[in-house]
Amino acid sequence: MTLNRKEMNPRIARWALEFQDYDYVLEHRPGGRMQHVDALSRSLQVMAIESNSFEENLVICQNRDPKLVKLKEELQGKQSKMFEMRNGILYRKTNEDDNVLFCVPEAMEGHVLYRYHDEVGHVGIDKTMELISGSYWFPKIREKVADHIRNCLKCIAYSDKHGREEGFLNPIPKSDWPFDVLHIDHYGPVDNGRSLKHVLVVVDASTKFVRLYPTKTTRTKEVVQHLRDYFRSYSRPRCIVSDRGTAFTSGEFREFLSEHGIRHVRVATGSPQANGQVERVNRSIGPMLAKLVRPGEGIYWDMVLDRVEYALNNTVHRTIGERPSVMLFGLGQRGPVMDSLRECVLDSIQPETRTNHDVVRGRAAQRQRLVQDYNKRYFDKGRRPGTRYLEGDYVMIRNFDSHTGISRKLVPKFRGPYRVAKVLRNDRYLLEDVEGFQQSRNPYKGVWAVSNIRPWFKCGSQVRSSRDQVISLVRMAEL
Ligand SMILES: [Zn+2]
Repeated sequence: MTLNRKEMNPRIARWALEFQDYDYVLEHRPGGRMQHVDALSRSLQVMAIESNSFEENLVICQNRDPKLVKLKEELQGKQSKMFEMRNGILYRKTNEDDNVLFCVPEAMEGHVLYRYHDEVGHVGIDKTMELISGSYWFPKIREKVADHIRNCLKCIAYSDKHGREEGFLNPIPKSDWPFDVLHIDHYGPVDNGRSLKHVLVVVDASTKFVRLYPTKTTRTKEVVQHLRDYFRSYSRPRCIVSDRGTAFTSGEFREFLSEHGIRHVRVATGSPQANGQVERVNRSIGPMLAKLVRPGEGIYWDMVLDRVEYALNNTVHRTIGERPSVMLFGLGQRGPVMDSLRECVLDSIQPETRTNHDVVRGRAAQRQRLVQDYNKRYFDKGRRPGTRYLEGDYVMIRNFDSHTGISRKLVPKFRGPYRVAKVLRNDRYLLEDVEGFQQSRNPYKGVWAVSNIRPWFKCGSQVRSSRDQVISLVRMAEL
């Protein structure tokens, strides 16, 4: 059986995927021989009569459906409260006198659902129900509509997740000491007309002290070069936090860190809040640079970047309630705009900032913890515990723009399927391609937070273990 992904019915696709690990032969069984009618053979049966109209198929399949045939036989010369025959076709009676509903044979249920959900523009449960229930009847109709929509690949890919966001904030532990933890990231490209295009942002987690390095590229080589300079000037950190940009995931970068004995924390894709330290700096760089450059006078961004750095380090940081330079050095830096009044008079009559360095740091650390607690409470409010996926589960991931991390409009909100390769701490998962369903040219492996994942596959087949089915049912109920 050749599988053409684009043209394949999603339900059949999932069956094919489910069966890919098995050697199997498809065998056509006539309706009468089917004790356990399953989705695959049901669809094959319908495929055989595809040349007929939808309505013709409904009638043909009604005559082949063992349950409905039995009902029809029972109705011969007998009245029923629920069913009646008209012109050899079985109908379900309604409360309204003459109004009857066509009894949909089991083999056609999926087609009715497809016609009134997929072909009507993927409307929700209530609208689909409204469209179907005016003319058709089959058992557990609402349940089946809900199930169909929950498993509709288009709806999974294009619509947003419902309800509260999943997963709680897991702040990266901060240290009270300078140079324990450094946050790094790239900002830019700033100005394509210059040979220098990006900014390597390095933020010390405890003091919020910022270094901004203008760079030509976002390659590992330049990152390493600037970090070596940073380590020489200040200190080697214990730990570095970054996103999963290629500069920070390369073998060269890994080697550099291990050579210096530095632990590397990489935040999950699409979860920039985990690296909030640099996000905050990134947000202020752009507007500040824009106000300082004067291209007409030959003053370009890379010439004024040091002013931005100075301003960030010598103004009060909201989280710690102190200037980063005072936190780090015990005094404000002399900068491009340091005025003599402040230097000679004000600082001399406020000597306690220099002498009571520990007090300043202690106060700032306390404040930082308060802000962190507040942020966590604020973030967690309105969120719910993350769905727990298991190794081997199939999932979809949020379709972020790989450069900006922002969800785009009019493209699927989710893409996939991917397979859960490993369950990680703090509601994160290592995801990889599903064999035979690779999404991109290069094999994919990535770490994702639970809030950016949704289930792809509802297990309903006998192939999976009953334990998996129970878990899957529980999970479906949660959605
Ligand atoms: Zn849909």
